[in-house]
Amino acid sequence: MTDEYKIIEHKYDVVVVGAGGAGLRATFGMAQKGLKTACLTKVFPTRSHTVAAQGGMSASLGNMGEDSWQWHMYDTVKGSDWLGDQDAIEYMCREAVPSVIELEHYGVPFSRTDEGKIYQRPFGGMTTNFGEGIAQRTCAAADRTGHAILHTLYQQSLKHDAEFFIEYFALDLVMDDDGNCRGVLAWCLEDGTLHLFRGHETVLATGGYGRSYFSCTSAHTCTGDGNAMVLRAGLPLQDMEFIQFHPTGIYGSGCLITEGVRGEGGYLTNSEGERFMERYAPNAKDLASRDVVSRSMTIEIREGRGVGKDKDHIHLHLEHLGPEVINERLPGIAESAEIFAGVDVTKEPIPVIPTVHYNMGGIPTNYHGEVVTLKDKDPDHVVQGLMAIGEAACVSVHGANRLGSNSLLDLIVFGRAAAIRAAEKVEPGQPHTPLPEGAVDKLVARFDKARNASGTTPTAKIRDNLQRTMQNNAAVFRTGDVMQEGIDKLKEVCDSFTDVQVSDRSLIWNTDLVETLELENLLQCAAVSIHGALNREESRGAHAREDFPDRDDENWMKHTLANLNDDWSVSFEYRPVHTYTLTNEIEYIKPKARVY
Ligand SMILES: Cc1cc2nc3c(=O)[nH]c(=O)nc-3n(C[C@H](O)[C@H](O)[C@H](O)COP(=O)(O)OP(=O)(O)OC[C@H]3O[C@@H](n4cnc5c(N)ncnc54)[C@H](O)[C@@H]3O)c2cc1C
Repeated sequence: MTDEYKIIEHKYDVVVVGAGGAGLRATFGMAQKGLKTACLTKVFPTRSHTVAAQGGMSASLGNMGEDSWQWHMYDTVKGSDWLGDQDAIEYMCREAVPSVIELEHYGVPFSRTDEGKIYQRPFGGMTTNFGEGIAQRTCAAADRTGHAILHTLYQQSLKHDAEFFIEYFALDLVMDDDGNCRGVLAWCLEDGTLHLFRGHETVLATGGYGRSYFSCTSAHTCTGDGNAMVLRAGLPLQDMEFIQFHPTGIYGSGCLITEGVRGEGGYLTNSEGERFMERYAPNAKDLASRDVVSRSMTIEIREGRGVGKDKDHIHLHLEHLGPEVINERLPGIAESAEIFAGVDVTKEPIPVIPTVHYNMGGIPTNYHGEVVTLKDKDPDHVVQGLMAIGEAACVSVHGANRLGSNSLLDLIVFGRAAAIRAAEKVEPGQPHTPLPEGAVDKLVARFDKARNASGTTPTAKIRDNLQRTMQNNAAVFRTGDVMQEGIDKLKEVCDSFTDVQVSDRSLIWNTDLVETLELENLLQCAAVSIHGALNREESRGAHAREDFPDRDDENWMKHTLANLNDDWSVSFEYRPVHTYTLTNEIEYIKPKARVY
């Protein structure tokens, strides 16, 4: 069977899968350190979802008022609802400052203050003095920050001679018998060839799996491919039950309206014209953490105070900011609101609704970007040869809820950290040892099976069933009954995948097959996500259970590790949360009630 496929072998020091912010930061960092680096990506690098990031990237530069990384760390720990690992959070908040300055020197055109410093705006959950004031910490290039960063990083990668394999679809990890990763198998969409990329480190930077939901802000390419590859390699994913709903997706389309709008003074109202966030978060109001704002909006709608004919959404106002602020700071938002809601933001409010936005969970790693797993009672056992960064990874700096503008930061800091680590571990030109017999054949067999799937159910139909199940049964508020129903429904949907129909047998530009492979990845991510949600009997961060309304530190301050079984059931183990810091410049931040 494998004879039918031409497999071209490549040998690199390191192989990066994904060319979003995380993948590109790692790619050029590794190339810069003299490692022969390949970067493969299923879409053109600057089309990765990072390009859509609007609001900005946090760092306690203190350009617009006093600030410190310790305050940033406190906010991030509190935002994570104490599920984040505090060593990793310290590393991220401390390294934020040099990382942003480095980015500026590489060419990111950040917005400026009148004095010429990097402009910084307020963002949800970002405070001064350990929760007392509102911090201006988010560095922005107007409302197109991700675009600016991604283009700069791509240019730097080209400058440092990283080699790109564009429109290559990574299929599976090549593992050896000792459980180490030895590379990745990919399919070239343009000419239909299969490629075996050997690397001493394989870095997964494949982004999130937002598309497991019906309404989300993520690109169609966010299908959790890397996460699913890890599950198929027999490794667990961490904290997949935590899914962030962004408060302000445009009603109907799901298109994002950045939190930067509220950072610039925008606010939410209900059908009575009331600024209801004042009731739920008296201090931070509209700038409370995302999970808090999304729940408040959902309660307003449920209690009959939604706006519109069906009273099923909320209004976001920025009319009062005036055209000058809007044109200078939020030009992209004005355009999106016009296109997707037909609204002139200088005159009327934008209709918005909480929309799936970000995956806190993912591939477990330490703060060097190395993938870890539980082995022989060691909760921090490093899987050799495998790294993960960006939204695909779970470091865990975001814990149960990510703060806005901390993801772009995560991409840059841990993309950089992975490059530093890889340069420590890999000698340029180090020889590759032979692969175990058959290691690649079984991966090719899976691909061949998908390509020849001759069932009767179209991929789009199964995907629609998946997305509606997740939307209805794993939402902002959750209960055991509703999630059990979701698990039962999802099992049917997953089982129906054996009847999937791929109508095109071609190996060249076969988008039907691409979507089918992506669907399988989505199904696998969704299964561990909803099973994890039912399993976690508490409310923490974005995971809000009506049947277990309180946070339960005694039983649940731990990371879920989920393994997917062949029958779509899920097995759980746990890793302790890191309750220590890296240096004595800050002490462990002890859990307390989370109010804004
Ligand atoms: C609309 C929107 C706005 C946002 N705004 C902000 C913001 O202002 N601030 C902030 O901090 N965060 C923001 N976020 C979150 C943040 O942008 C994302 O978490 C982040 O960009 C993810 O980056 P990444 O590098 O991990 O992955 P992505 O940018 O999603 O890139 C994934 C890469 O992996 C590749 N890939 C995936 N699967 C395969 C495969 N099978 N084979 C080969 N290649 C593959 C893709 O081609 C792509 O290059 C926003 C998110 C969205 C959706």
